[in-house]
Amino acid sequence: MVSPMNAQVTAGRLPLVVGNWKMNGTRVTNVELLAALRASGPFDAEVSVCCPFPYLADVAMSLQGSGITWGAQDCSQHEPGAYTGEVAAVMLAEFGCRHVIVGHSERRSQHAESDTLVAEKARLALAHGLTPIVCVGETLAERDDGTTEGVVKRQLSAVIHTLGHCVSQIVVAYEPIWAIGTGLTASPQQAQVVHSVLRAQLAAASTRAIEMRLLYGGSVNAGNAQELFAQPDIDGALVGGASLKAADFSAICRAASHAALGSTGKSRT
Ligand code: PEP
Repeated sequence: MVSPMNAQVTAGRLPLVVGNWKMNGTRVTNVELLAALRASGPFDAEVSVCCPFPYLADVAMSLQGSGITWGAQDCSQHEPGAYTGEVAAVMLAEFGCRHVIVGHSERRSQHAESDTLVAEKARLALAHGLTPIVCVGETLAERDDGTTEGVVKRQLSAVIHTLGHCVSQIVVAYEPIWAIGTGLTASPQQAQVVHSVLRAQLAAASTRAIEMRLLYGGSVNAGNAQELFAQPDIDGALVGGASLKAADFSAICRAASHAALGSTGKSRT
């Protein structure tokens, strides 16, 4: 399905679009949403759906054999044990999860998750064969203060410190907090600036940084996806609200497919 001739694939960066359902869905509406998503594929990009924990078995059943992968929105920083209410990475692996989001800004702010805790979650995810999608991003006040770069580098550096060269196995999602669920989107140029800073930071830690996928998240929709994906260091998206509507999410996946096939005209290094 993926043309071996396009530059993006050559660089090993197949676009990735991940839906973050957050705490939404019902067993009935999930089946409808996933059936519609399956019907609109296949895509020339990797597509994944991160659902609430209780729906993992249903989602796995709905997506089996579709080429669409699935994952969770968080995991514990501990191995199984006496941690009431927590879910261990090894349990997610049992349900066939490919990805797990860690360090989403809602977890960092609502559950006081620190940079080191997020790094520990990423470490356990990798230890159990999952790909952690590590979220970083600044508040509006931090952007206005001119500290965006310092904030995202601090967040990522905790992960690099913990994982060392294995950091090449993660996916990074740059999600400016002021753009999440607000309808505000970083301009493609604003997002690209941060993505290139992150890739340079990763390059200092791993020779494989050029192969790593860096996602943008923050009010991505069918209208803005293509221009975002045309940026040289934006390799896909983490999508919240629009992932709950099959038509909108499929349109974003199609935009990523076009990027994979080089129809945006970009040439990746
Ligand atoms: C998110 O939750 O990660 C997100 C980017 O949400 P939204 O697309 O709704 O802004």
